[in-house]
Amino acid sequence: MKKKLKILFDNLCCSQCKNGFDENSITIKREENGLLVTNLQCQHCGKNFGIAFIGFSDLSVKNPEPLEVQEGPEPISYDDVIEAHRFIKNLDGDWHKYLPDNR
Ligand SMILES: [Zn+2]
Repeated sequence: MKKKLKILFDNLCCSQCKNGFDENSITIKREENGLLVTNLQCQHCGKNFGIAFIGFSDLSVKNPEPLEVQEGPEPISYDDVIEAHRFIKNLDGDWHKYLPDNR
């Protein structure tokens, strides 16, 4: 799964040290039907980019759009994930319009 996720981050590099991300940069915090909550951290300088939401129905998509990564000064905590989950729920089923169209 992580190797597939790496495809989604291939277009991105660390804004601090300009190194690319690899699968070790990605931590899966939560996995649900069609949605991953991931944490992204640079393996070179340790900069933490906070959480990214990834909606997927087919991760083998050939031309994934670059993801929007939220900058977060604080390392992610469990509360952050719960908060994010609430946020998603508040979007009613409509949230995936904010995600790259992988379908
Ligand atoms: Zn870096």
